[in-house]
Amino acid sequence: MTGSSPAEVDGQPVTAAQLRELLQRLDALCPGGLRAPAGGSLDIAVVDPVTGALRASVTRSELERLARRGCTIHPDGHCRCPVVDRPPGTDRYRPSAPQRRFTTVRDRTCRHPGCGNHAGWADLDHVVPHAEGGATSCENLCCLCRRHHRLETHAPGWRFEMDDDGVLTVTTPSGVRRVTRPPGMAMALDGARSLDPPCGAEPLHAGSGRSGSSAGAEPPPF
Ligand SMILES: [Zn+2]
Ligand SMILES: [Zn+2]
Repeated sequence: MTGSSPAEVDGQPVTAAQLRELLQRLDALCPGGLRAPAGGSLDIAVVDPVTGALRASVTRSELERLARRGCTIHPDGHCRCPVVDRPPGTDRYRPSAPQRRFTTVRDRTCRHPGCGNHAGWADLDHVVPHAEGGATSCENLCCLCRRHHRLETHAPGWRFEMDDDGVLTVTTPSGVRRVTRPPGMAMALDGARSLDPPCGAEPLHAGSGRSGSSAGAEPPPF
């Protein structure tokens, strides 16, 4: 590995060594290790360090098991084999439980531009409709609140497109485009460029206002 372009980093697998390091860092955060609250669950996001894209979502016990087991092909080597990845696609319409967890951890809120409704109340939407051949896969599922799910499904003229990392582009019937990134990616981007308006919503056209009053700058009907 000599290159360091984001595309190459994107393609790198999550290795056992990385999971062990992650576990160490979690345990350094609080004595005895970071654990789920009683009766609750703790989803740990494994994030690409450069782009902030979510690579995998694991529970504490899964993380411990995978870090301990390592690569099944090279048990004691420092290989670069993936030990965890995004949940695989399914043939069914309904997303699997791992897909639901991954997408909720990735999106956290409704992904419609400017909407901050909590993902716990959100529907998982097929960006390309299942009936039109859209896959039930994390690359084609995003969190939308009921209101925006209805808009996405029924309102004519709106276009929704999403890339493999969950970057969603919404085009209104009048041709206005907005890009929203999963919060982790928006934060990674903020590190390099601090002009982004809050909530991960980003005007496509530079110079459309950098005063920070993005809510007011957004045209209806967002
Ligand atoms: Zn290996
Ligand atoms: Zn919404």
